Parts: sequence; C-alpha cells; structure tokens
Amino acid sequence: MNPLKHVDIHMENLISDLQTLIRQPSVSAKNEGIEECAKLVQKLLKKSGVKSEILRLKKGVAPIVYGEIKSKQNPNKTLMFYNHYDVQPAEPFDLWDSPPFSGTRKGNKIFGRGATDDKGELITRIKAVEACLKTTGDVPCNIKFVIEGEEETGSAHIEDYLKKYKKKFSCDGVIWEFGYVDAKNRPIIGLGMKGLLFVELSVKESIRDAHSSLAVLIKNPAWRLIEAVHTLRDSNGKILIKDWYKEVTPFSKQDLKLIKNELFDENDFKKEFGIKSFVGNKKGIDAKKALVGGATCNVAGFVSGYTGDGAKTVLPSESLVKIDFRLVPKMDPKKQVMRLKKHLKSKGFSDIGIKVFHGEAAARTNSSDPFVSQVKDAANKSFGKSILNVSNAGTGPMYPFVDILKAPCISIGSTYMFSRIHSPNEFARIDLLKKMTKCACLIMENFGKH
Ligand SMILES: [Zn+2]
Repeated sequence: MNPLKHVDIHMENLISDLQTLIRQPSVSAKNEGIEECAKLVQKLLKKSGVKSEILRLKKGVAPIVYGEIKSKQNPNKTLMFYNHYDVQPAEPFDLWDSPPFSGTRKGNKIFGRGATDDKGELITRIKAVEACLKTTGDVPCNIKFVIEGEEETGSAHIEDYLKKYKKKFSCDGVIWEFGYVDAKNRPIIGLGMKGLLFVELSVKESIRDAHSSLAVLIKNPAWRLIEAVHTLRDSNGKILIKDWYKEVTPFSKQDLKLIKNELFDENDFKKEFGIKSFVGNKKGIDAKKALVGGATCNVAGFVSGYTGDGAKTVLPSESLVKIDFRLVPKMDPKKQVMRLKKHLKSKGFSDIGIKVFHGEAAARTNSSDPFVSQVKDAANKSFGKSILNVSNAGTGPMYPFVDILKAPCISIGSTYMFSRIHSPNEFARIDLLKKMTKCACLIMENFGKH
C-alpha cells in the first residue's frame, strides 16, 4: 500500500512560505541577513511539525538550522535532507525585472534570488514532511534536516559541523540540496560529484623585468613554467604524474550500462561551444565516460610578461599558472598534492613554487545501492520519468557526508536547468515544486519500507 501516493500538497501554502523565505535576504558573501534567515527557517520547520534548533560552531561562522522528527512506525531508519538557506548576491540589480527579494509570482513562476537555489528546493522537503504528517499522522522514517548558511561561499565549515555533530547527524541516507530537471521535465538523479584540486604554480627568476635582449643570459620564467606544465599531461588528456590514477577503480557493469544510456548529444554539444573535436578525439561512450568519471588537469589561467596592445620587448621576472585538477573517486587530494610535488622535483623543477587553494575529494554512491532504486521509483511516480546520472562532471561538498556519516547520498530536486540560478531573474517553476514535494514524500515512504 502507498498511503502517500495520493498525498495532498497545499501549493498555496508552499508558495507563500517560499515567498516569505525569498523576502528575507540571506547573502552569505556579504553576511547579510544570515542570522535572520536561520531563525526564519527554524520557524518554518516548527510550523510544519519538525522539532528544530540552531547549531553553532564558533563566532563568525554561519549557524546550521537543524530539524528532526522521529517516526513512530519506523524509528530505526533515518533519512537526512541537506540544504542551504544562504543565497548568491543578487547584483546586478538593474537586470532584474522584479526586485530580487520580492518573490514575485507570474503564471507558473516565482521569481527571486534563491527561488530555486536553494530556498525552493528546501521548501519542497519541508512541505513533504508536513504533508506526510497531515496525511498519516506520522513520517515513514526518522527525518533530519541539516540546513547550512555558507554553501554559496564554498561550504567552508560543513566538514567541521559534520565532525562536531556526527552523532546527532547520523543517518542511513542523504538527499542532496538540489537536482536538475531537464528541458523534457525529467529529473536527473545524481549519484556523485567529482573532486577538485586547485593549485597555483609559479616561477620567480629575477628581481625585476629586463630588456629582452638579455634573454641570451637570463632565463625566462615563462618558458620555465611552460616546460614544467608540459610534463603534467599528454595531448590526449592523460595525466603523466606518477601514480596519479593508482587507486582509481574501473566503472562497474551497472555504471557502464547507465553511462551508455546517458543522454548526451555529441554534435549539439560541439555546436554549442563551436568546437570540432574532443580531447583525444573521444567519441561515443568514451566521451560520456569522460564526463562522468574522467580526471582532468586543466590550465585555468597563465600569466607572465606583457600581453597588452602592440609590442613590448620584455623579459618577465616571474610567471604564474593556475591549474585545476578534477578528481574522481578514491583520489585523495592530499596524496595527489604530494604526487604533484614529487613529480616536479623528479623532473628537475624544484624551483617551482606550489600553492594549494582547494582540495576536495570526489563522492559517488554505488548505483546498485537500494537507496538508488527507492529514489528512482519515487521520481518516476511523481515526474513520470527520470534519468540516473552516475556522477556530475562538477564538484560539490558531498564527500564529507559520505565519508563522515557513512551514508549514501543522492541528489534530486526541482531545479529547472534554465531557471537562471546565480543570475538575474532566477525563478522556480510551480509545477516542478509540486512534483518534487510529492517525490520527496514517496522517497521517504520507499526509504522507510526497506
Ligand atoms: Zn547556488
């Protein structure tokens, strides 16, 4: 029996609560309205029947709003909803058709900063729990809410919070803060995120720039860096640092099946970017595999010398390159940094400075985990169809959840892929909010049953 199959979602309540949330600015980058928004979220949780408290780490760190409701029928299984109440800055204001913190409703859309990212997603989770309680007087499993306030500035303290409140946050599965819905209204169920290692390499050769006639005697730091960077990867994209792929395991049969079915139109993609071929001339399944599970060594920026108008014969004194490496599961960022350092030293580049800006491991939930089919079933019932994605090509702070809480983590949501998140005129689609709220009900039900 599915008591929640015909659950009643009160959309007018949902919309007005979402508007209330949007009207409270909460820009983490500017520390604007963070405390106020945390309190508002706590109030909304309580109003929906969820016990809630504000958790703190230390001064200057945005609080986490924590919510919990115990299941009477099934107190041994716990599902967590991870979301964030902070938003991106709304600038440039003049490009908004309605004020960014107004929550203006037009037809099927609610406009405002955070309408989708992440206040829209958050409200679907809260209203799902509320609908569940109203329909059945209980929740199908214990529910925990972890709602942070620093996601848009990089979730700098989420790992510390998870460590500090490990026991409080313990759970058997996590629903990630968002999920895309494609142009054909299919939610994309994401099972993972790649990791990221961001470094800066630099060479300082002389104490000042020199006349380029002196290039016969003074070494050029740009050449030096080019030579070093050249040793990091081959022209097919393979990273040449010793043991870089050592711990990486191949895709499972099940993963390969999903990757094969992944909707990716090579020609559309090439047209979109105006390119003729892919790295290493990848085609078909190899291009899909690279998106889902390929590691990269990408030159994000390279500066040295003069790049202004006209000519200037100068020999620069220093050079600098910023490189981002996308990491795949089992690559430990700390270990990879050591390998990079060792590589440069062994190739004779010990004069090159290395600065590490960011290191984050990849996370991926096993596609044969029962949680995956529970979410998939819920999505199919609510949206009519859905797509499983083994891993997003991008990066998010999923690893600490999987690592510290030892729980599978899945992303699904109501974020229409063209909903202008992080841009002016961000909006949420009311039809998708409704479908996602129902989907969250069914996820809880499926999760509680097994
Ligand atoms: Zn965002």
